[in-house]
Amino acid sequence: MGKNKSTNLDPENRRVLERTLQNLSGSLLMPKSLFVFFIILYLVATRIVIYVSSSSGTINIMNNPVPLSVFAGVFSSLANIFVIFLSGAFGKLGYITSLVLLSLNFIGYYQNLFIRRNFASLPGVVGNLLTITAISIIYFYGAKISVYQRKLYDQALIDILTGLPNRFAVSEYLSDVIKKKEKCAVVLINLDNFKDFNEAMGFDIGNRALKEIARRWDNVSEQGRSGTKDFIGRTSGDEFILIIRNFKSENNIYDTIKKYSDALNEKMLIDGYDCFITASFGYSLFPEDSDDRDSMISYAEVALREVKQNPNERHILRFDVGMLKGDRVIKLESTIRSALSNNRIYYSLQPQYDFEHKLRGFEALARMRDDDNRAVSPNEFIPVAESTGLVDTIDLIVFKSAAMFMGEQIKKYDADIILGVNISVRHLMKTNFLEEVKEILQSSQLPPKNLEIEITESIIIDSFENALVTLSELKKMGIRIAIDDFGTGYSSLSYLNNIPANLLKIDKSFIDRMNESESSKQYVEAIISMGHILGLEVISEGVEEKEQLETLLKIGCDYVQGFLWGRPISPKDAEEIIKNM
Ligand code: C2E
Ligand code: MG
Ligand code: MG
Repeated sequence: MGKNKSTNLDPENRRVLERTLQNLSGSLLMPKSLFVFFIILYLVATRIVIYVSSSSGTINIMNNPVPLSVFAGVFSSLANIFVIFLSGAFGKLGYITSLVLLSLNFIGYYQNLFIRRNFASLPGVVGNLLTITAISIIYFYGAKISVYQRKLYDQALIDILTGLPNRFAVSEYLSDVIKKKEKCAVVLINLDNFKDFNEAMGFDIGNRALKEIARRWDNVSEQGRSGTKDFIGRTSGDEFILIIRNFKSENNIYDTIKKYSDALNEKMLIDGYDCFITASFGYSLFPEDSDDRDSMISYAEVALREVKQNPNERHILRFDVGMLKGDRVIKLESTIRSALSNNRIYYSLQPQYDFEHKLRGFEALARMRDDDNRAVSPNEFIPVAESTGLVDTIDLIVFKSAAMFMGEQIKKYDADIILGVNISVRHLMKTNFLEEVKEILQSSQLPPKNLEIEITESIIIDSFENALVTLSELKKMGIRIAIDDFGTGYSSLSYLNNIPANLLKIDKSFIDRMNESESSKQYVEAIISMGHILGLEVISEGVEEKEQLETLLKIGCDYVQGFLWGRPISPKDAEEIIKNM
């Protein structure tokens, strides 16, 4: 690039950068008004000097007459101090202004001394000369320091290779824009296959290509040539970042980014080699996508990653929340795998009662702890386990261990209670599922009539035909079937009539709303009646309040499961309940 970027930035961008450095170094930027103020003070002080030095009057201080001319020295010193301030605080401008002011003063002194022969001006002349010496030393010494300051400034904010602002400068710049609540787009740019290019052509050509790309982009960004106000920097290796302001619509942003992309299309000849480099762009918008600087950058990064993963589609992409899902799923999947191999998957038991508070049984609910030993909700990890094929293993761990426990309890306390287990339909459809069930029943000694397999309503309907075969087999084995989360799917009566179920589990969302209006209550009442007509028992899930319990009893529900009468507990605590049944 040759030219120093710090002296060549768009004036507005440069101001922001300078302010940034100023803030960082803690030094003060003097307001212009102070400049004028010092000049006024100086002029007033010199006027007073002229007036008092030629005056023969006196003033009375503590009953002593003091000649006014005595104050000439005082005000002359004050004037010099103002001038020293001026050149100390305002650099070159201050220095030159001070020199002019002092020189004008000399004319007055000259006339007094040589024409009027008034030697009272002599201290003034000496003072003036000393002040000129002082401000010159201050100025030239300060100038020397500012050369170092400029160097430090460059090192702190400028990328050495390309001369563009560096990562730090761009993020400070972005903070500033966000602080002012100004709309902006953050664009992360990555050169495509630059690593291969570097390896094939060598680092020297690689570096020269980077400089050339930086030069072209710098050109696009300068003076609003792209149609928007842009600020471009290099963050690392083959990664650049662009902040776009002053756009009217998203189309504007796209057009601007396109200009940066097109700038690479021109022939790039380095050392006789025709280099062709393209780039990918991912961006996020402030304030739509986030109002936090770091999230803005990482969202742009997410969008960029999405572009890189599908290189044949678009090479400019805006961030979308949906893109984060992939990340979360990948993370959760590895957490599940790690939990599976470190025995951090286990189960809780939630009691179910009839309306006389007699224990019906327990539902086994999967539990998982992550690498930091924090509990992760099954609502989070079960869907991921389902989509990644890990749910069978989880189901089986819970099913096997809960069946072993309940088999023992039933024998030990001669208790006729039910164990409910949740089985995902994916798992249910596995060819060896029935074999697995038989094996578990055998090894746990759990009687089939005490086992209840819960299948979620909406999922049975999706794969109705296949599910039906397995469910019928289970029923034949004497195992009970429960339709879980009833009401959340769209099952028609004919479906329901065909499923060989024993129990309907009304979803918590209906129980939550039940006491809010008469119609919600009637809805639950209708579900219960319908269940009864189809020969099913009905249990309400998520019963948390006494009023809900009372209503459910009135409208004929058979069983309850909910925090009001029992939260999910450890097998040890469950044994206490069974023992005292
Ligand atoms: P689900 O089978 O409908 O289980 C009932 C859920 O409601 C449980 O949440 C339970 O803790 C919660 N619950 C019960 N009573 C109340 C209440 O009064 N208030 C509130 N706020 N919640 C209540 P959990 O344990 O988080 O399980 C969530 C879902 O995860 C289960 O819903 C089930 O669909 C699935 N799940 C749990 N364990 C397994 C498993 O071993 N295998 C499979 N495939 N899915 C499982
Ligand atoms: Mg369930
Ligand atoms: Mg449920």
